[in-house]
Amino acid sequence: MIDVIIVGAGPAGLSAANVCAKNGLKVKVIDEFMKAGGRLLGQLHEEPDGTWWNGMEEAKKLNDEAQQLKVEVECGVSVYNIKKLNKSWKVYTTIGDFQTKALLLATGAAEIPIPIPGWTLPGVMSIGAAQVMTNVHRVKVGNRGIIVGINILSSAISRELQLAGIEVSSMYLPGINIANGDHGNPLITMRSMLKAASLAPSKFIRFGSKLMKYEFLHSLALKFYPKGGMKVWGIPVHLRKAVIEIVGDKQVEGVRVAHVDMKGEPILSSEEFVPADFVCIAGGLYPLVELAAITGCPFQYVSELGGHVPVHSEKMKTPLEGLYVAGNITGIENAKIAMNQGTVAGYSVVQDLINKKEMIEVQLKQAMKAVEHTRDQATIQFHSDIRNGRKKVYMSFKDKGLIMKKRNFYGE
Ligand SMILES: Cc1cc2nc3c(=O)[nH]c(=O)nc-3n(C[C@H](O)[C@H](O)[C@H](O)COP(=O)(O)OP(=O)(O)OC[C@H]3O[C@@H](n4cnc5c(N)ncnc54)[C@H](O)[C@@H]3O)c2cc1C
Repeated sequence: MIDVIIVGAGPAGLSAANVCAKNGLKVKVIDEFMKAGGRLLGQLHEEPDGTWWNGMEEAKKLNDEAQQLKVEVECGVSVYNIKKLNKSWKVYTTIGDFQTKALLLATGAAEIPIPIPGWTLPGVMSIGAAQVMTNVHRVKVGNRGIIVGINILSSAISRELQLAGIEVSSMYLPGINIANGDHGNPLITMRSMLKAASLAPSKFIRFGSKLMKYEFLHSLALKFYPKGGMKVWGIPVHLRKAVIEIVGDKQVEGVRVAHVDMKGEPILSSEEFVPADFVCIAGGLYPLVELAAITGCPFQYVSELGGHVPVHSEKMKTPLEGLYVAGNITGIENAKIAMNQGTVAGYSVVQDLINKKEMIEVQLKQAMKAVEHTRDQATIQFHSDIRNGRKKVYMSFKDKGLIMKKRNFYGE
């Protein structure tokens, strides 16, 4: 029997695999993408200190280490079902079933769609698809694009498109509708962007973000928001304009844009046509948790973590024996944090499967500290108040853990 199966060869899954293999466990990593690295593969950004984060290189380092440690990494294989057996797990994949003592789910995140009229036209894609096509497959997604949805992810990927020689003409809010939630609200969007302003290459914007710590200034800033948008990396970011329709005959030809009031309601007389040959829709991310749901693991909705997450402890254990989670499945944070969480999960598995429990406890505690430290230093943080979100889940683990101990796996 395999000691540990890890679903997801992203930064969390590979980091966990390497810790387990270093400690003598037999590890199998399964990923449905054709290459190991997860979302790291598409990442390329400049840090505020001027150094570059090259996700492709980071993925290679982790994968090379896994190969040296004889971790079995199966790419192009999907996991579609999981069953709990007595003291083990059965994992159903597109190349057959496997039995394992421990199971770690590190399936990452998915994108939130924001529907707007015209979004089924060829040339409309999610911002993540544009990132993968550009940085992984080296396919040019178009010549002149428009981004609908203003958030940390769309800002980071717009910059990546620019670096690949693609013109990003502007970033707009999506037109407000019943499905788009807060994405079209100028004030809420501005507040979430201010938290990321430390990333901006312009000293002026960084200074502005400090000034904007005072909430009473927010509405004022929106009221006098420049008509041509605020430029970030030379890209006009429009907090008072929204895309109300994507237009084109057989493919994208441009978008209809309208000025919006302070609540995001379009002022229809202000409509204009902006030409483009592709449009990226960017609604942010949510934890990809379906496999955890199949296991019967309890869940909790935590807005600070980006949605429903499997209940887990700081050691990345779930209340189900032998089931662990790490990375974005536990809440949306950046790749460095996912790596550190993977290390924690790896040590937890090792501690539960081998005898040197006390020695591992020291390494586990160090790894948990590293998560906190990386979180403190994070330049990309997708949600505010992440620590509060984490606390809520750890509290639930304590409650749910006790309840699950009194019940069997099926809650009887
Ligand atoms: C579109 C997008 C863009 C992002 N851009 C950035 C960025 O620029 N900077 C940043 O810091 N963070 C970014 N992130 C956040 C990113 O998810 C984390 O940084 C980090 O990659 C999370 O690591 P992870 O190991 O948890 O998951 P991932 O890196 O997402 O890896 C999860 C892996 O699990 C696999 N998987 C999922 N389900 C199954 C299944 N059923 N069977 C088999 N395999 C499965 C996937 O194929 C994937 O390779 C982005 C996320 C997304 C979705």
